[in-house]
Amino acid sequence: MMRLGGGCLCGTVRYEADLEEDDIADYCHCRECRRASGAPVVAWIQLASSRFRVVQGQASAFASPAGATRWFCGRCGSPLYMTDPDDRSLGIAVACLDEPDRVPPRLHGWFEERIAWFDTRDELLRFPRHPPYDR
Ligand SMILES: [Zn+2]
Ligand SMILES: [Zn+2]
Repeated sequence: MMRLGGGCLCGTVRYEADLEEDDIADYCHCRECRRASGAPVVAWIQLASSRFRVVQGQASAFASPAGATRWFCGRCGSPLYMTDPDDRSLGIAVACLDEPDRVPPRLHGWFEERIAWFDTRDELLRFPRHPPYDR
């Protein structure tokens, strides 16, 4: 078991999660995740909701048309986690974990809804920090 913390950009909402070996992280390319995040793709880790708890602050909820509830910080807007109506599992937005390096996504979901120009294995130049035009 691996205990990980995470939270929003402004620090109002903090949570803890106990991850197990077979909890799967994936990329979701669906339109709804894109709208909710403003990002081309969102990485999620799914776990039993009993292994997740908010330890500081309180997240705001948006009941999405698809049936899930998306929880975010009402102050800074960070997307934080998702729950489903039957409480089967909970998904945490991997990028808001304190140590996202420890949770590598294993697969791509909703790949057919991906933005055409988005490819995680493209051949574009990679700059470690600011690109040259952004100084
Ligand atoms: Zn916040
Ligand atoms: Zn999605």
